[in-house]
Amino acid sequence: MKTVIPLPLPTLLPVAGAADLFPVRRVYCVGRNYAAHAIEMGHDPDREPPFFFQKNPDNLISPDAGFPYPPLSSDVHHEVELVIALKAGGKDIAAGDALDCVYGYAVGIDFTRRDLQAEAKAAGKPWAAAKAFEHSAPCSAIVPADVLGHPAEGPIWLAVNGDRKQQGDLNQMIWKVPEIIAELSRLFTLAPGDVIMTGTPSGVGPVKRGDTVTCGIDGVATLSIAVV
Ligand code: MN
Repeated sequence: MKTVIPLPLPTLLPVAGAADLFPVRRVYCVGRNYAAHAIEMGHDPDREPPFFFQKNPDNLISPDAGFPYPPLSSDVHHEVELVIALKAGGKDIAAGDALDCVYGYAVGIDFTRRDLQAEAKAAGKPWAAAKAFEHSAPCSAIVPADVLGHPAEGPIWLAVNGDRKQQGDLNQMIWKVPEIIAELSRLFTLAPGDVIMTGTPSGVGPVKRGDTVTCGIDGVATLSIAVV
């Protein structure tokens, strides 16, 4: 195949315990999926239908130096999240079949330009500039579900310079993994390579250059990254 410009490189994530890589097609994110975080952001924690936004596949890849603090913001927040990596997809997937679509899980950070998000919310504008900026979604290696199973409970946490800022449990997710996949597949045709970030527990807050952000989901993975 000849292309009129150089073919863009695919986004490839490492897989724990394997030499082969996981190719990323799309990145979906769930908003407001832990009640305590919904409350801290000034929203009702009731079980409203989930809503989704997107990041870009290459946002998952971090430079060796760390997470580059993005321009045009002075209030970049950390959000630690369980990440789902799909090996199969489809439309209108039943919740009872959804886990069959999962290749594995990882821990990731949904870095957010909170000041731009607040402006967008106030103006009824989209969140892309607040969410889908360069390197905004650092992610651990993916742990295959064949090895891990399907985690539904367990601590999810994030620390900045060793100080614990976020502490939750996967069992606090308002919409569970099978429900998220089912709901998302009503809106979009899911496919192998799709990645879903599943929302963050409470305790979000700012980072600054020089910080080291460490996060994890016990029994799944950990991730540590410098803000540069
Ligand atoms: Mn988030």
